[in-house]
Order: sequence, then structure tokens, then C-alpha cells
Amino acid sequence: MTTLDRAGALRATRKVLPEHARAHNRSLLLQLLYRNGGQSRADLARASALTKVTVSDLVAEMLAEGLVVETRQRTSTGPGKPAVELDIPRERWQVIAVDLSGADEFEGAVLDLDGTVITRASVPRNEATGSFALTVACDLVDELRARATAPVLGIGVGSPGIVDLDGVVLSAPNLGWIDVPMRAVLAERTGLPVRVANDANAASLAEHSFGAAAHDLLLLKVGHGVGAAVLANGRLVHGRRFAAGEIGHVIVGTDVAGPLCACGRHGCLEAWLAVPRLEARLADAPDEEAAREVLRECGRRLGFALAPVVGTLGLTDVIVSGPAHLLDGTLLEAARDVLRSRLLPDFFDGLQLRLTDQGPDIVLRGALVLVLDGVLGIS
Ligand SMILES: [Zn+2]
Repeated sequence: MTTLDRAGALRATRKVLPEHARAHNRSLLLQLLYRNGGQSRADLARASALTKVTVSDLVAEMLAEGLVVETRQRTSTGPGKPAVELDIPRERWQVIAVDLSGADEFEGAVLDLDGTVITRASVPRNEATGSFALTVACDLVDELRARATAPVLGIGVGSPGIVDLDGVVLSAPNLGWIDVPMRAVLAERTGLPVRVANDANAASLAEHSFGAAAHDLLLLKVGHGVGAAVLANGRLVHGRRFAAGEIGHVIVGTDVAGPLCACGRHGCLEAWLAVPRLEARLADAPDEEAAREVLRECGRRLGFALAPVVGTLGLTDVIVSGPAHLLDGTLLEAARDVLRSRLLPDFFDGLQLRLTDQGPDIVLRGALVLVLDGVLGIS
């Protein structure tokens, strides 16, 4: 296999070693079981195109590790032994998921492997920043760990800011974090596998795994700040310095008199759309029509920001996560109108711009996907 390196020259990727192939095949079987449940060894061999011997060997290994269970014997339909169905023990393992993106509190939950919340906990942030904010996050993880009622498969964290692939929060201005090795800190504290990602990135994984979106999607997260994540062919786009999706500080429109942004410039998407900003402008509106015009104006700005991205990537799904009472209806309709007028009909006709159906737990569910992917290779 070859890929393009940064200079554009073709180079060989790492050689595929036998242990890599084995890990890949295990993930493939776990993925089939996670998605479909109730599969026999023969079903798995058919669906994975692996030999029956390989499947039996891998299943035996995973049965011993407790990652796979035999659930029931099928009724016999012919000669030979009736097949035994296998599944993932969805309730035997739990995952700790943490969402650090809230302005006022850090939230967390213990989930089973299907994303059902077993128990929740949250801690007030009290404007904590720096190492104190990290201590607050660690305390939340400790509390959730004490509340888990089954062995914990791993810990997933959705953090605001820019997060690299090793789980280092490179920069999260609201929390005063620069180069905080979140994954390493939590792994050392708990001895468990830990995965950390930007909160919008985590949310996009939840939408992809549990929602109805296609493999190519942009997820826009509107809260205290505004961020986005892009999935291309089911894979997160990380971009330069892991900052892909940081659309919040893109200035939208050619007017220079947009609202002042936290970054010091005027007219960034975040200055238009962040929840506190939107709420303040609505509170200042003298009547209902003026309030609707505030929503329309912010929706148009969103459309300005999205149109070139949708056109460039050929996206079919733009999913918005945030408060429905602000975003749904007038605001998203105005954004849709802009997209309709700025995109070729072929692009617009297939486009879905809608609120997520993953609800307020979207980052927690995404943190679960981080662990499933990181530990079991399930996405
Ligand atoms: Zn800005």
C-alpha cells in the first residue's frame, strides 16, 4: 500500500505484520458482533471472508478474555451440531465517559457498551482553570469509577480545545490549558485505557455510530463556543495541528462591523452563534419580530460559513448540536435558505441540515465510541 507524504511523493506505508493482521481480524469480528449481535462462527466467517479455522481460533481467544460470549444454541435445521450464537457481552463491561465542554460544570456518566446510561455524575467547575480544573476532572473520573457496577473497559473524554492524537490538550483557552497530557494523567491515575478527543470530534463519532448520518458529515456544536468536526468516509479529519473543524473563529460576511469576538476580532461565527451571545441579543430585542430577525441574521451567517465547506467536501449531512429552542426553526431555516441560494441545486438537493437526534448526551456517547474504537477497534 502506498500513500502520499507531505511532499506529495509516493512512499510505502508500514509493513503489515502478522500481529497487526490478527488485531485487524479481531476488530472485524467484534465489529460484526457489535452491529448485528447473534452471529454464529459460520455467519462470522461468511461476513468477514475469513476462514472458519481463523474465526474459531479468534473467537476462542476472545471468549477467554470475556470480550465475546456464547448466547444461545440455534435449533437444528439439518445434520450436524446446531450452531451456537455469539455476541458481545454488552452489559458485562462498562465505559466511563466525561464531557468537559460545559461552561458551568463537568459532566460524566457510566455507560454500558450500547450507550445506555447506568449512572451519572457532575461537578461544578466554579470557573476553575489550569491545574485546578484538571483536578476537578480527575475527581469526577474517580467518582464515576466508584459508581461503576461492572469492570470498566476504558475512559473516554470529550474536551474543549485542540487535542492531539495522543490525548494531549494542546490548547483550551476557556480552561487555561496548554499542553495538558490528559490521557497520560488519567491512564496513570486509573490504570485503564483512556481516549481523549475534542468535544465536537467526539460528538461527530456519536452521530456516525448511533445516528442516521452518512459517512461524510460535518457536525457543528453550538454551546458556550462554536466548533465543528468533519468526518470524511467515516474518519475524522484532523488537519493542521489537529485544529480541523475550528470554524468558530472564521469571520463570516464581508462587513467589518460584526459583533466583537472573544478572540479580539469582529464577526467570527462564534460571535454570532454562541449561546450566551445569541441569548443576549434575543434579550435585547424589543419585540417578537425583532427577535425573529436576530435568529434569521444568525442563521444567515451560519449559511455563509457552511456553503463553501459543503461545496468543497460534497457533504450530504450537516448536523447541529445545541439548544433546540434557539437553533431549530427560524435560525436553521435561514441557514438553509442561504445554502439553497449559494450552492448548485445538485449539492443542495441531497443536503440535510438538521439538529442531532443524539440529545444532550452526544459528547458522552461519543466518548463511549472513542473507547470502543480505541480498545476494541469497533467504530
Ligand atoms: Zn473569533
